[in-house]
Amino acid sequence: MNFKIALLSGDGIGPEVTEESLKILDAVSKKYGHKFEFDYQDVGGISIDKHNTAITEEALSKCLESQAVLFGSVGGPKWDDPNSDVRPEDGILKLRKELDLFANIRPAKVYPALSNSSPLKKEILENVDFIIIRELTSGLYFGEPKKRWVEGNKRYAVDTLKYDEDEVRRVVKVGFEMARKREKKLHSLDKMNVMASSRLWREIAEEVSKDYPDVELIHMLADNAAMQIITNPSDFDVLVTENTFGDILSDEAAVIGGSMGMLPSASLSSIPGIIEDNSKPALYEPIHGSAPDIAGKGIANPIASILSTSMMLKWSFGLDQEAEEIENAVNTLIEKGVRTKDLSENDNFLTTNQMGDEIYKLIKSVSYTHLRAHETRGNLVCRLLLE
Ligand code: NAD
Repeated sequence: MNFKIALLSGDGIGPEVTEESLKILDAVSKKYGHKFEFDYQDVGGISIDKHNTAITEEALSKCLESQAVLFGSVGGPKWDDPNSDVRPEDGILKLRKELDLFANIRPAKVYPALSNSSPLKKEILENVDFIIIRELTSGLYFGEPKKRWVEGNKRYAVDTLKYDEDEVRRVVKVGFEMARKREKKLHSLDKMNVMASSRLWREIAEEVSKDYPDVELIHMLADNAAMQIITNPSDFDVLVTENTFGDILSDEAAVIGGSMGMLPSASLSSIPGIIEDNSKPALYEPIHGSAPDIAGKGIANPIASILSTSMMLKWSFGLDQEAEEIENAVNTLIEKGVRTKDLSENDNFLTTNQMGDEIYKLIKSVSYTHLRAHETRGNLVCRLLLE
C-alpha cells in the first residue's frame, strides 16, 4: 500500500530522532512492500531562519494534503528572545489549530526493566499504565486577549483561559470512549475551586457521563492529581484535562517512566463514526522537546519518535501488525538491557543511530505469518484507538 506522510522534523534533536523513524519505516517498507512517500517541510526555528515564519502556508497545506504528519520537535536558545514577534512554538500551535487536533493522547507507561531509571521507588511503579488526554486547541494557550503592555512605568501581561461547551464536550467524550474500553474509570482534572472555565468543564463532564453509565467519572483537582501521579500512579487509567494542566501533568507522568525519550503521542481531530468525523490527518510526535542540551551529540533516545511512528502506522494507516512489530522490537531491546545514554547507568550505551539500527535489524529479522484482514480506515481507527 502507498502512504503519504508530511515530515516536519524541526529543530534540535527533532531531525536526529526523526531520521531513526525513517529508518524504521524503511524496514517496514522492505519487509511488507508498503511505499511511504514523504513531503519534507520546515517548522519551528529552522523555518524562522529560512522563511521568517514558524510555519509557511505551503507547509500547512502540504500537511493537510497528507495522510498523517510525523513531527520532531521545535525550539532552542537561538530563538528564545522573549521580545521576538515570532517563536518556534508558533509553528506547532498553528499546525494544531489548522488540523483541529483537539485531542492529544499520551500514554504513560513504565517499562519494568527501566524502573531503575525512574526517580520513584520501585514499589510505586508497579502496574503503572495510564493515558492522559490533553485538550490541545483551546484554553490558555489560545484564548484572547493574550498580550503584554506598559502602563505608567509598570509592565503587564495577560493570557486568557476560555472554553466553549463544545470544545469541552468533544475531548471529554474521547476520554469516556477510551475509558469504556479500558478500566471503565475516567479522571477528569480541573481547578473548579478557583476557575470559572473549570466549573464549566466539570458541568459538561457530568452531562457527558450520562451517556456512559458504565464508566466511573472521578473529578479531581489538577494540583491534587500532580501529587497523586507521583504517589499513587497506578490508581490512574484514563485522565482527561485542559490544555495547560495536561501539558504540565503529562510531562510529569513522562518522567516517572525514566526518560522523556521513551514516550510517543498522537494528536487527533476525529474518531471516525464517534467524534467529529472529518478527513484531517492526525499528527504523531515524541512528547519531548528539542533538547538543546544534547542536540548534535548523537545521544538522543529515538524511541519516543519511533513509537510515535508505530502509533501512526496503527491509527492512521491501519497497519497494526507492522506497528506491533515495532513495539515488540523496542520491548525486546529494553528487556535485553540495550540502552541509550538517558537510560544507562554506565558508559555502556548506544548512540541515537545505533539504537535505530538495532530496532531496524530486529524488525527485519523477525518473521510473522499472521496478517489481519483488511478493514476500512474508519473502523480501524475506532477499533485501535479504543483497544
Ligand atoms: P525537552 O523535552 O527538550 O528536554 C527536557 C530534558 O529531557 C533535557 O534534559 C533533555 O536532554 C532530555 N531529553 C528530552 N528528549 C530526550 C531524548 N529523546 N533522549 C534523551 N534525553 C532527552 O524540554 P525543555 O528542555 O523544556 O525544552 C527544550 C526546547 O524544546 C524549548 O525550546 C521548548 O520550548 C521546546 N519544546 C518543544 C516541544 C515540541 O516541539 N512539541 C515540546 C516541549 C518543549
